[in-house]
Amino acid sequence: MGTITRRQLLKGTTVLAAAALAPRTLFAQTARISLPPRGEFVIRGATVLTMDPAIPDLAAGDVHVRDGAIVAVAQKVAAPGAQVIEGAGMICIPGFVDTHFHMWTSLFRPFVRADIPAQGYFPVTARLGRLMSPQDSYRSVRLGIADAIAGGYTTVHNWAHNTRSPEHADAELSAMREMGIRGRFAYGTPVGLADDAPMDLAGVARVKKEWMPDPENLLTLGICSRNLGAMTIGGGAASASRGILTVEQLKRDWDGARRLGLPITMHTSGASPITALEGAGLLGPDVQLVHPLMTTAEERKVLKARGVSYSTAPQLESRRAAQLGEIQLGELLEAGVKVSLSTDHIASTSCDPFSAMRMLFAVHSHRIGARQPLTLKRLLQLATLDGAVDLGVAQRTGSVTPGKRADLVLVRATDTNIAPVGDPYEAIVSFAQPGNIDTVMVDGRILRRGGSFTAYDQPRIAAEAREAALALRDKAKWPA
Ligand SMILES: [Zn+2]
Repeated sequence: MGTITRRQLLKGTTVLAAAALAPRTLFAQTARISLPPRGEFVIRGATVLTMDPAIPDLAAGDVHVRDGAIVAVAQKVAAPGAQVIEGAGMICIPGFVDTHFHMWTSLFRPFVRADIPAQGYFPVTARLGRLMSPQDSYRSVRLGIADAIAGGYTTVHNWAHNTRSPEHADAELSAMREMGIRGRFAYGTPVGLADDAPMDLAGVARVKKEWMPDPENLLTLGICSRNLGAMTIGGGAASASRGILTVEQLKRDWDGARRLGLPITMHTSGASPITALEGAGLLGPDVQLVHPLMTTAEERKVLKARGVSYSTAPQLESRRAAQLGEIQLGELLEAGVKVSLSTDHIASTSCDPFSAMRMLFAVHSHRIGARQPLTLKRLLQLATLDGAVDLGVAQRTGSVTPGKRADLVLVRATDTNIAPVGDPYEAIVSFAQPGNIDTVMVDGRILRRGGSFTAYDQPRIAAEAREAALALRDKAKWPA
């Protein structure tokens, strides 16, 4: 007969306590990340771009953070006892907000080819996506989050349009919670689901019950909808795997989401579905559309009137054929439609908000910049505060504002690709890249410092993603 040691007892107690606090997750990983504690910090002497219209930027100022919240932003803040973060030579900005990111496809990097259509994003994700286990989803989302944090994104909209089972949903949410990022999980349908099959609304309701409200107030929930009408991007592979619904089929899913009080997001790739959506009375401020390429002036008036927001992913949209439309940033801003910025996925482009802003500025200037001037400050606003507005979390993040949560990024302005700095917005939009990021703080937790992760085992995250990817490749006999 063995005796229970104190250590075993303590271990058991810890497990029980954790089980009582955590939701009953169907997917459980054994190796948990231990996130750094929220403390008290003061960033001293940084150039602060607040993105808050009521708080002026500071050429050199302090940002005081305590227990996850921004408590003061001023030229000089007395913060006795706070840990000092030297901000001289740095530009402090709010964390970036990515409003449309398919994290489940991150691990397909080894296979997706930008220049070979048969091995493009849609064929790869259509074929390999069907074979993914919850653990594959978990590993893919972890890789995506690590890349997002390294890029300065502190909030992401995880657009999970391959939610194959309740376990897959829990796997993706587990990765988000463990890694301490702020974000919305958009529950979707599995790749390959029949168009006449409704989405798993009971599964969505379960996630809402078990995961929401998030005790840390970092995670929120929504749904991602299948497309309405013809989807021309991606050809047959995407159409056959992601769904092309009638307005009645779409309404069934959307009504279900609305009964649960959840926001809705949908791609608009190909012919614009906006007039049909409006005709069915489906548009409202709880709707986010993605890829603003083919809207008419009349439709933009409808979007403005209904409070619909639009997410643009310039790095990938600009790769599309001309007949699939142009990035209508200028037209949307002219019409007063809410716009935000997104990566889309990292299977064939970089997770880099600086590049996204630069590309958007270039495309916009090239098209209609003379008619609709756009400042670099407005671009940074699109990538931060406007993203927070789009995701309904602007009361918590998106600007350097006392009372908001501390989602902050410090960019080294002394690096060779930036220095010497004139206008700080010019430095951020025209020159910066993720490699210039020194510090990333999410909800007052420092997740990246001195350009390195504080808590993530990045080599392991990459190795496990690779292992999962190669196993999927073998299972699918890819390339087919
Ligand atoms: Zn997308």
